[in-house]
Amino acid sequence: MDPQKVWQTMLTAIKPEMSEANFNLWFANTDITQVADGKIILAVPSAFIKENLKQRYQDLLLKAAKEATQQEVEIDFVVDSSRVTLKKTAKVAEEDLFQLPTTITRPTLNPKYTLDNFVVGLSNNVAYAAAKAVVENPGTSYNPLFFYGGTGVGKTHLMLGIGNELLKKNTELKIIYCSSEKFTNDYVEAIQNHKMGDLRNKYRSADLLLVDDIQFFSGREGTQEEFFHTFNELTAKNSQIILTSDRPPVEIAKIEDRLKSRFQGGLMVDIQLPDLDTRVAILRAKCLEKGEMLPEDCLNLIASSSQINIRELEGKLIQIMQSLKAQNLPPTVESISKFLDTRSPNSAANLNHKQVLSIICQYFNIKAADLTGPKRQKELVLPRHMAMHIMSEDLKMTVERIGEILGGRDHTTVMHGRDKIKQLINTDREVQRIFIEVKNSLASS
Ligand code: ADP
Ligand code: MG
Repeated sequence: MDPQKVWQTMLTAIKPEMSEANFNLWFANTDITQVADGKIILAVPSAFIKENLKQRYQDLLLKAAKEATQQEVEIDFVVDSSRVTLKKTAKVAEEDLFQLPTTITRPTLNPKYTLDNFVVGLSNNVAYAAAKAVVENPGTSYNPLFFYGGTGVGKTHLMLGIGNELLKKNTELKIIYCSSEKFTNDYVEAIQNHKMGDLRNKYRSADLLLVDDIQFFSGREGTQEEFFHTFNELTAKNSQIILTSDRPPVEIAKIEDRLKSRFQGGLMVDIQLPDLDTRVAILRAKCLEKGEMLPEDCLNLIASSSQINIRELEGKLIQIMQSLKAQNLPPTVESISKFLDTRSPNSAANLNHKQVLSIICQYFNIKAADLTGPKRQKELVLPRHMAMHIMSEDLKMTVERIGEILGGRDHTTVMHGRDKIKQLINTDREVQRIFIEVKNSLASS
């Protein structure tokens, strides 16, 4: 039975039963992942949605499922938070970060992201300490607090964690959370409708302003101007501002200098890709949150299988949990490695060294002959080292074999290059970004 067909039939039956707003809120990011053996598994973006679907719509779902499959079925849920960003347009994704509690009309921040459930490790401990400091002394210690780092490393989580912590201390606190696109849209709309006053009242009355992914202010002159004044007014009255970006302010193109210097005027902290221990700790925490248990060696295996960001790691964990459940397998290194090999997009099983080299040449726009040739120009060294690293880590090839493939290089040269790049990935933003992009290209090749 095609799960998507079943789901579409179910949605058609469910939709007329409620308001459009409710339908969007509870079902827009819910998807079917499995229909088998009298069981349907639905993936939902948060535990909050899961609880609500169970409490409010269980009967409706069961009825629709029965009709769609022509049999009695059970419904099970898995929480997959990566769905929030994967499946939606930016605008809806943003709304999801707010939830309207049933009793209070004021929107609150998504309670899922707290400082308590943020796992601290080498890659993010400075950022975490800064977050704590801001919670202790908002508006004074570090203003603005600026988090930067690659995608999925926990910037938004940490920012909302601060918001939630401050909201706990003072429920009256006026918090505005938005992406830079939302701010831009509000600004454009305000101009069109001659409502600049409203816009200013809104943003300039915040006690805490959280703006996510400000790299998208790039090139938006009017928005930058408006934000500059908002910024000044808020900091003048000690309202705390927290910003995130995928790169440090100096590296964002087309941002006014005066704004850049404001961004740099507080505290800038970067969040790196997590090291292995942190990845294991995060996986452990995510399992606990979902009320699941995986043995340590399994956590280790999953954490070692990918160097990519935490969002992907979480996605992989969920995928594995689902597969184990669906096939009724116990969580063991053996059963899990099966899924890692066949299901993971960038797994060794699906790749060979020719593909790796070809993707690297494509990405860096160099010739294969140069990559494997004797030239030692800087433009060739990084791609070569990247190739060594990926062939070693992902394809598990020996240094001797890698040396051969790369034009007969000595194995010590390969070891050196591989270790060098490994270290750079952890310390150099630019290299990290390139690495992630290359891995993404490989994954989608
Ligand atoms: P970013 O904003 O940097 O792209 P997010 O904050 O959206 O990344 O994090 C992606 C996912 O990883 C979220 O589900 C988040 O809860 C989780 N995550 C990231 N860092 C941590 C951490 N240190 N501890 C626990 N969960 C984390
Ligand atoms: Mg984010």
